[in-house]
Amino acid sequence: MGNLNWEVSALGFGCMRLPTKSIINKETNSSKQVIDKEYAIEMIRYGIDQGINYIDTAWPYHDGESELVVGEALKGKYREKVKLVTKLPTWLIKGEEDFDKFLNNQLKKLQTNYLDVYLLHSLGKDLFETVKKFDLVTKMEAAKANGLIKHIGFSFHDSLKVFKEIIDFYNWDVAQIQYNYFDPNYQAGVKGLKYAADKGIAMIIMEPLWGGKLTQSFSEVEDIIKKAHIKRSLADWAFQFLWNQPEVSVVLSGMGELWQVEENLESANNSAIGSLKKEDMEIISKLRKTYSKFITIPCTNCEYCMPCPNSVNIPQNIRFLNDFIWFGEEQRERFEGLYTKFLKTKEELKESEGKGAGNASLCIECGECIEKCPQKIQIPEVLKKVDAILGKKQKISNFF
Ligand code: SF4
Ligand code: SF4
Repeated sequence: MGNLNWEVSALGFGCMRLPTKSIINKETNSSKQVIDKEYAIEMIRYGIDQGINYIDTAWPYHDGESELVVGEALKGKYREKVKLVTKLPTWLIKGEEDFDKFLNNQLKKLQTNYLDVYLLHSLGKDLFETVKKFDLVTKMEAAKANGLIKHIGFSFHDSLKVFKEIIDFYNWDVAQIQYNYFDPNYQAGVKGLKYAADKGIAMIIMEPLWGGKLTQSFSEVEDIIKKAHIKRSLADWAFQFLWNQPEVSVVLSGMGELWQVEENLESANNSAIGSLKKEDMEIISKLRKTYSKFITIPCTNCEYCMPCPNSVNIPQNIRFLNDFIWFGEEQRERFEGLYTKFLKTKEELKESEGKGAGNASLCIECGECIEKCPQKIQIPEVLKKVDAILGKKQKISNFF
């Protein structure tokens, strides 16, 4: 765990995908998904009883409900058994008083007097400016001096260059990055992992299964794992890839069912740094190549095409399309929901002060981005398809 003298569990409980159930509002006759509280508490406590001692939540998870349920789950003897982590919603910081307001509220929701780690949530280029503008690190230090938080860190979503800038900015205790075997160079990637770990920063990994994609079962991937020299599930291969690396402190998994907790615990119990041999790495490499065939648009997220003069967030829009094609029409509602959260007009983008991402419909087909793309992707053509499929409800099969 970097420079922290902690014995943490290899597996951390990510509380962003807790089990949910539907409740009906009789007045409006509409239904809403809420956390299945009893089941979630049972799962979290089971995980802790079996040795998980790192619990990760955040202000926005489950529309604010996750922190409340985690607080309930840790009541009494469970709180002292774990390292509790939550995150400051940096994008909601608009004034000097907001830091204390959120921290106090989060402590109350979590029914605790202190956090083991407080992370600045989702830093990237723009939110890093917010951190500097409101001097949030100094505020973190003051909260630490008051005993409200024990350690300081950030979670991250941007390029390697920005990651290094943020790492060099402060003597962080913890950094949380997205990392998995499918695309080890995505965002901070393996280079960022090593860079930060070399400085003694504890590295927490999120999205180990790439949002569940690396457990999608196709006959070709099933063939690979069936023929492997050792019996492992798809999820297990993805986890072992991470736990094999000495720089990785904790791997978070957002578990939504008890069987997932059980399976992941078993994987963690069978893990060790440096345990993967050449033949294991060959299986992982075959899985990576096979999954790559299901990526329709070969965007590597390098961001060379950015910025778009018309504020389109090109790689993110392409990623939505790739992910939607991968998961298929049955996930339409989810992806349309994600896509509609992207901003559609210049006015909205202006109001978001650079924090919002532009939707594919903003593309005016100026063509400026095309020659910057090393993958030779016909970006305006692809963006038209993104908007037709996710913005105008056309079927994937009309295009691919
Ligand atoms: S073609 Fe579209 S995405 Fe590319 S730079 Fe022009 S407006 Fe932006
Ligand atoms: S330049 Fe091409 S590969 Fe890189 S992010 Fe843009 S579209 Fe993707």
